[in-house]
Amino acid sequence: DVDWQGKHVTVAGLGVSGIPAARALYERGALVTVVNDGDDERSRAQAAELEAWAAARGASGGGERRGSLTVRLGDGDTLPESTELVVTAPGWKPGKPLFRAAAEADVPVWGDVELAWRLRGPDAAPWLAVTGTNGKTTTVRMLASILEAAGLRTAAVGNIGVSLLDAVLGGEEYDVLAVELSSYQLHWSPSLRADSAAVLNLAPDHLDWHGSMDAYAADKGRVYEGNRVACVYNAQDTATEDLVRAADVEEGCRAIGFTLGTPGPSQLGVVDGILVDRAFVPDRQKQAQELAEVGDVSPPAPHNIANALAAAALARAFGVPPVAVRDGLRAFRPDAHRIEHVADIDAVAYIDDSKATNTHAAEASLAAYDPIVWIAGGLAKGATFDALASGAAKRLRGVVLMGADRGLIREALARHAPEVPVVDLDRTDTGAMSEAVREAARLARPGDTVLLAPACASMDMFVNYNKRGEAFADAVRELAGESG
Ligand code: ADP
Repeated sequence: DVDWQGKHVTVAGLGVSGIPAARALYERGALVTVVNDGDDERSRAQAAELEAWAAARGASGGGERRGSLTVRLGDGDTLPESTELVVTAPGWKPGKPLFRAAAEADVPVWGDVELAWRLRGPDAAPWLAVTGTNGKTTTVRMLASILEAAGLRTAAVGNIGVSLLDAVLGGEEYDVLAVELSSYQLHWSPSLRADSAAVLNLAPDHLDWHGSMDAYAADKGRVYEGNRVACVYNAQDTATEDLVRAADVEEGCRAIGFTLGTPGPSQLGVVDGILVDRAFVPDRQKQAQELAEVGDVSPPAPHNIANALAAAALARAFGVPPVAVRDGLRAFRPDAHRIEHVADIDAVAYIDDSKATNTHAAEASLAAYDPIVWIAGGLAKGATFDALASGAAKRLRGVVLMGADRGLIREALARHAPEVPVVDLDRTDTGAMSEAVREAARLARPGDTVLLAPACASMDMFVNYNKRGEAFADAVRELAGESG
């Protein structure tokens, strides 16, 4: 619906979303300026590669439909003159001067997800969207596995690490897409309309970016806007149900709940160890439809059963039969660093949940073990740790802390678990993980679990949570080598 020819578009941010966006716009004849805060070696290499790509494309014919492409490094704050649209990387903060300038000039701002939504073809596959504070990636993978088991052509895309632009413009045909959306991506997606969507849960996270819990919730709630078939909510997390109520949806769109307890009408839930569906059964069929056993879900921890129910609800809303839900869940294997069992050493289990990057996620994994030697710390992102410390206090054998904001956790433990021994490593270097594992091993007794569930982001010490989890696993293997 947009005539791109000659349109001045500013792409904010080189990187996994900016580069595909710049290419797609250039191919459609837009005049693209990519702006980037950084002017480091990596950005320069990316900029050179992108400009060389455009030059080669321009030279290879069909040039009249192609636009222009330039990259401006070292200034992501000034809005280039005559900009008609900004397409931003999802992580850029709404308060940035670039967006203030855009607002003043009445220039719309889209994220790369919005761009993908607008550029998809008329017969494009519908989107089943998943958001929430925790469990998004797991649920989207479960959903894709279920859709595949039903014989549908599908892919898990979005925040999971697969650009929606690549999925939508890549030439591959899909029947339906399983889309993970972050709160950032939703913030910048004003016209996105999913077939069905789920908000898994809502707890404080990324408040430094959104500004407040209300703003964060409102951005998450955007996922329900315009839904056609079903809004899936967590019946045990009323905040998600409130978002359904606030959403403007298509006529006939249903609200479907999921619960770890016995389901009401229009809900999926668990009865005697069986995942059951009472929402998508014919009216006259009084009985709940059995979908799968709790043991079909790996790991069968409560929070993960909730993820499975949400995935099942979205798949059932799309018309997938019960047997495919079971087969898809059985075929699903969790990703690395999500409650991953690394080794047993001297009858102590070592578990890597490096992906627990906020307190809500850490709470879920701390609830699954007893007694625990807990390794935590990193960047708190504005979180508080009182609820986490008091909830886990009884199950803690000891705690090892590291990272920039470890003091916040230490203080919360002093308030709520004063008798639990705490080792404060007072370190923020990568090598601290090895010392942390040794300290944890010293505190642990046979039968205990040493759990890396940092409740914090990793970037103060590591490139990302993957590297943090790998450092943990390396340290555990080193320890196993010594004791074996
Ligand atoms: P996301 O993509 O939302 O970050 P993941 O599926 O990668 O979520 O899981 C991240 C972490 O959150 C996991 O390691 C686990 O500790 C925790 N987690 C997963 N599902 C849930 C849930 N439904 N509720 C609470 N915590 C969860």
